[in-house]
Amino acid sequence: MQKRQVSNFKLLFNLCLITLFFTLLNACANFSINQYDTGSQDMNKSTHYGLVIHGGAGTITRKNLSPEKESALRAKLSEAIQAGYKTLNDGGSSIDAVSATIVILENSPLFNAGKGAVFTSEQTHELDASLMDGRDLNAGAITSVKNVKNPILLAEQVMLNSRHVMLSGKGAEEFAKQQNLELVENAYFSTDFRLQQLHKAKLREKQHNSSDHPMEFDDEILDEQSQDPEHKFGTVGAVAIDKNGNLAAGTSTGGMTNKRFGRIGDSPVIGAGTYADNRSCAVSATGHGEYFIRYAVAHDVCARVMHGKKSLQQAADEVIMQDLLKANGSGGIVAIDKNGNFVLTFNTEGMYRGYKFSDVNEKIQIYKM
Ligand code: ASP
Repeated sequence: MQKRQVSNFKLLFNLCLITLFFTLLNACANFSINQYDTGSQDMNKSTHYGLVIHGGAGTITRKNLSPEKESALRAKLSEAIQAGYKTLNDGGSSIDAVSATIVILENSPLFNAGKGAVFTSEQTHELDASLMDGRDLNAGAITSVKNVKNPILLAEQVMLNSRHVMLSGKGAEEFAKQQNLELVENAYFSTDFRLQQLHKAKLREKQHNSSDHPMEFDDEILDEQSQDPEHKFGTVGAVAIDKNGNLAAGTSTGGMTNKRFGRIGDSPVIGAGTYADNRSCAVSATGHGEYFIRYAVAHDVCARVMHGKKSLQQAADEVIMQDLLKANGSGGIVAIDKNGNFVLTFNTEGMYRGYKFSDVNEKIQIYKM
């Protein structure tokens, strides 16, 4: 009798060991498939909230970033993450967190959004931004504004206080006045660094145009510029999931250096540079806008999650690392899905990026490795 009890005990013990072994194996496999899979499928959403941000992608390598600039960038990204996280932690909505985060990046001359925005070919600044609420697909976007200090706040007002989704130029400025938003001189956005970038871009353009193969289309000029080893896109964006499990996304930019003829990129285009839908995911993009518009990048990622039943990581990899890369479209995205899984995916040398969740420590990264 005692012998049988002992062998039963042994059997049970062995079974436990086998179960433990397979559980561990499964955990390791998930980690290697998706580095940022929080495994939150069955998680009580109110305990998992947070945000992911970017400050632009591009040719960002240790070699072309001084240690001083790197620490200034890290500090600003961290400040922005903390502002957004505080909003969420205090019970604020994902929309409020996204706009609080982006305002900080817009006010910093380090990024190509708000203060520090790139120059157009006419040596002015034209700013674009958009914001989307995953609860009801409500969205606001503004393009080509010249005097609104924080374009993301104007996009938010369009979303909340107008019947429209997208306003441009003078009309958008007029609406900003009505909403009592802070206005500034266009020169407020200027920095020496961006002026030098414009001069370089114009020089390159001149050299090309006097060569045997002048570039006929602006797109080719922007294409060439995005391949430039010194090029960094510098657009800013954020995606967030709040305590109620609601998703939001926002993006703000000065566009691309030396842009002409009122060129508008993907950042203010809902479905291209920004998208949020509680049924799938929230995405903010940065990169060569013409490609992100053609490939409807932000929406495509969410559609693959919702209709294609892909994981967020798979969807992001397919769009950014396969489709866009094949087409020569450089850039990246940050995204969160409805379960709180998140990705930071880019096909460039680097992307200024970071995240913080209630159950995941703050992390800021710049380079690929
Ligand atoms: N996507 C932006 C644009 O094409 C540029 C950027 O991401 O920096 O306007």
